[in-house]
Amino acid sequence: MPLPASENPPLDRPRLDADIVCVGFGPATAGFLSTLSKQLVHADGTPAVESAVAPGLPPQVLCYERADDIGFGVSGVVTKARAIRTSIPETDKAGIPMAAPVGEEKVLYLLDPLGASRRPAMLRLADRFIHSCHWALPFERQALNLPWTPGFLHKRGGMVLSMGQFMQWVGAQAQNTGTVQIWPGTPVAQALIEDKKVVGIRLMDQGVTKQGTSADGFTPGMDIRAALTVVGDGPVGPVGRQLDDIFGLPQDHHTRDWAVGMKFVVDLPEDTPLKPGTVLHTFGYPELEIFGFFYVHPDRVASIGIFVPSWFDSPVRTSYRYLQHWMMHPYLWHFLKGGKLRSWGAKTLGESGRRGEPQLAGDGYARIGEGSGSTNVLTGSGVDEAWATGAQLAEAVLELLKARKPFTRENLEAAYVRRRRGSWVEQEARAAEKSRDGFQRSVLAGLIGMALAGLSGGRLVLPGKPLRPWERIPPLEVYFRGRIPPAEARKIRDDCYARGVSAHAALMERAGWPPIPHDGRLLVSHQDALLMGGKVQAPHGCADHVAFVFPNQCRQCGTKLCVEICSGQAITPGQNGVPAFDREKCVHCGACLWNCASPSPENPERMAVAFRAGAGGLHSGEN
Ligand SMILES: Cc1cc2nc3c(=O)[nH]c(=O)nc-3n(C[C@H](O)[C@H](O)[C@H](O)COP(=O)(O)OP(=O)(O)OC[C@H]3O[C@@H](n4cnc5c(N)ncnc54)[C@H](O)[C@@H]3O)c2cc1C
Ligand code: SF4
Ligand code: SF4
Repeated sequence: MPLPASENPPLDRPRLDADIVCVGFGPATAGFLSTLSKQLVHADGTPAVESAVAPGLPPQVLCYERADDIGFGVSGVVTKARAIRTSIPETDKAGIPMAAPVGEEKVLYLLDPLGASRRPAMLRLADRFIHSCHWALPFERQALNLPWTPGFLHKRGGMVLSMGQFMQWVGAQAQNTGTVQIWPGTPVAQALIEDKKVVGIRLMDQGVTKQGTSADGFTPGMDIRAALTVVGDGPVGPVGRQLDDIFGLPQDHHTRDWAVGMKFVVDLPEDTPLKPGTVLHTFGYPELEIFGFFYVHPDRVASIGIFVPSWFDSPVRTSYRYLQHWMMHPYLWHFLKGGKLRSWGAKTLGESGRRGEPQLAGDGYARIGEGSGSTNVLTGSGVDEAWATGAQLAEAVLELLKARKPFTRENLEAAYVRRRRGSWVEQEARAAEKSRDGFQRSVLAGLIGMALAGLSGGRLVLPGKPLRPWERIPPLEVYFRGRIPPAEARKIRDDCYARGVSAHAALMERAGWPPIPHDGRLLVSHQDALLMGGKVQAPHGCADHVAFVFPNQCRQCGTKLCVEICSGQAITPGQNGVPAFDREKCVHCGACLWNCASPSPENPERMAVAFRAGAGGLHSGEN
């Protein structure tokens, strides 16, 4: 009889004792380990502080990363890099691949060259006005270059980075100190909690079926027990969510705001006029709600992509299809035509900012990075803030270790949370906290609200109530009203689902979006993007990390948001109304966790999809 992978009866698990264990190696944990690793030993190699589990040695610090290698997440970024440079003053001169100082910055309003987007009548009038006065405006190829943008949107003095390359560089630096270890390809299944205290983590079981029951080669995940567990598993990390479920969020906090970011890394044509460090931000197209970015690295490489936000009320949300229409906008296509796909990926961002902040510390644990609410939604900046919170925790940990104080909630609050509250991260997060609420009403209200909040330091905002997806997504018939007759919209969807495919492409084309002219180089099919760009892989012997936990709700669900948004086409309509999941195509973006049309009966902040710890996904260090 195969052993159940669950704990009844308890399994005899391997156990390892450490001083500090970290979950996830993103920018937050990189800031933590980078700061900590340099201060654990003296110049002569003797421990600056001593390990509790290996007397005579410096503290034993282990970090487990889910992805198959360091830096296999996704995000080519522009960042002011204030905290990064404080931790690593040599950052600018270190020769980090794909890094460039920020040069020209532009914010562009993209007009709709096709007439296919959903634009309010007022905006269509405004677009006509821009067209008629184009000779007097900074207007070219259907784009208006905003002549002035507020300072808070600028990244002057910052850097364009490939996070993949940067993370590999930082990871090597931290490990070269010999004081910390980073283990990629090792998902953490859960935190170990005893008497309301986090006592370490449990790694994922291997040699199990897709359903999680033991199979040939069953190996129970190891328990790593540590005095401090550092949780930096990002916006959709299962360990962070486990802690939220057990310890709760502070009053009025929630994580209802998010965005799906999808991007291409592209070889630009040889004669590109774009200089390294160029930063373009766009809004207005392909739909008003979708923001775009175009960052130029050295050697004619660019990171380009879009964000599909939580307040984009479409039942057929898709990032991939919209990304292709965005790329083909005349302003951008002018730079991209003749280019070639190098890499591709997708990832969600937690956009609740400070309002998504969980309990930052508790007995035996501390939270850092985006999963701790550090991302600044006003300035569109997450990397530096995540790094800063990691560095703040490292300083706090050193203080406690040197004072031989235990990692209790009280001590971590005094040493870590106090540092964080006194820092620029907190100050700027407070100004940003309600800055995007206007988007809950309309894009125009959102833009005005951001400007007000940015210019007044957060004192003036336009209010709006963040809703959960199942509270706000209209039915298909309502969304396409005036474009596709209701019965036809339903028929298109039903036909697609009967064929086992998502419906957004067929519905968008019926609503006026032209087919994508695939060229095999840059405009490639979604599946080719997975294989050529994402190089997606999934190991055998692991349980499925995406599961439909309330199948009856799925059967009744007409708006299969999870299928439409899926960044890898890993979720398909399935049999009998319950979606099917194919791990081989999953890029671990986490979008399905947020994009469900039905609440969990157990917790209205959660939905009918479970997103657990899992291995594999993107295999590219260029993102
Ligand atoms: C397309 C895109 C563009 C962006 N552009 C910018 C930009 O221009 N500027 C900017 O400042 N920010 C940008 N961001 C945001 C920025 O990437 C994030 O704010 C930042 O990465 C957060 O860092 P983090 O360390 O908190 O979390 P993450 O980067 O999410 O890192 C968390 C890590 O934990 C790992 N993990 C998760 N679960 C587990 C588990 N169970 N076990 C082990 N490991 C686990 C993940 O694989 C990941 O490596 C962008 C984001 C996206 C998606
Ligand atoms: S997971 Fe959510 S969106 Fe997907 S079919 Fe089930 S209820 Fe609908
Ligand atoms: S199934 Fe995978 S690729 Fe699809 S939305 Fe979920 S995490 Fe992203």
